[in-house]
Amino acid sequence: MSELRKDPIVGRWVIISTERGKRPADFIHGEGVKPPRLGHFCPFCEGNEDKTPPEISALRNPDTRPNSPGWQVRVVANKFPALRIEGNLGRRGVGMFDMMNGIGAHEVIIESPDHVKALTDFDLSHLKKVLSVYKERSLDLKKDERFKYILLFKNYGQDAGASLEHSHSQLIATSVTPKRIKEELHGAKWYFDYKQRCIFCDIINQEIDYGVRIVEVSSDFVAIAPFASRFPFEVWILPRQHSPDFDRCSDEGLMGLGKILRSILRRLSQALNNPSYNLVFHVAPNRISRGGYWQTIDKDYHWHIEIMPRIVKAGGFEWGTGFYINPTPPEEAATYLRELEER
Ligand SMILES: [Zn+2]
Ligand SMILES: [Zn+2]
Ligand SMILES: [Zn+2]
Repeated sequence: MSELRKDPIVGRWVIISTERGKRPADFIHGEGVKPPRLGHFCPFCEGNEDKTPPEISALRNPDTRPNSPGWQVRVVANKFPALRIEGNLGRRGVGMFDMMNGIGAHEVIIESPDHVKALTDFDLSHLKKVLSVYKERSLDLKKDERFKYILLFKNYGQDAGASLEHSHSQLIATSVTPKRIKEELHGAKWYFDYKQRCIFCDIINQEIDYGVRIVEVSSDFVAIAPFASRFPFEVWILPRQHSPDFDRCSDEGLMGLGKILRSILRRLSQALNNPSYNLVFHVAPNRISRGGYWQTIDKDYHWHIEIMPRIVKAGGFEWGTGFYINPTPPEEAATYLRELEER
């Protein structure tokens, strides 16, 4: 028998095959994401700074100038942005339809000057620098009152939509709160109104108690295979201490996050032969300039990272229904990932 499971936050049902869960080997068909190779032109490599839009921010060695070599992490505008930064929102109606201008920010965070290094290869002090740049960009973009949401994400490998192999993440600031986030916000608020507790904190406590869906726990973070996982080997990383905003993370917190993030990505890479994945930060929306908006958000929403290995493809059933069929129970995925050698 398969099982229908309900995600307690957004109420989404998933179908989980419990009978014979697919093992990692069942998903390994090709060679995995090929490691980056040198020998072709790459606009993100050190020395090619003039081949990208001008830099917005960078962590640089002393005495180096913007848009020249000598950086560790570099942020530039996306050359082919989905949204543009200049202009006003121009909210308007066309008959019964609503629309507005495509205003937003679309930035690329180049995570290393070194073409061949993946995030899993970074040493922890470098990874912490990358995370501190995420934080700094988020705080900076929040000052812009037009932006309601700052989405940080990473596409790794072709099956996840990455077009360049040089390690990078992206950040898109939007003038509306994305639907997925809204669903989480509503679910979390509903739970809080009802119980006066954060649903994520409750999930964390219960999962640590049960243990079956835990992949890794550290003093300040926990990684779980969520109860109603949509995808095989889906993993969420959550801070154990309640916080709605990633960008409030202390230096120590960023170090702890880097440690567990790298460990989880290494586990996934080892288990699934370096799979493509999407990684997204789910954080509370921008409340600056929106006084009185969502009074309980600081208490009811809890930021986290969702990692989705791209090893199965969504089909008509998923598109048509919003249901997902997951052939690997999260308990099996967690056990497998947990038991891999300490990373
Ligand atoms: Zn490169
Ligand atoms: Zn919480
Ligand atoms: Zn989420």
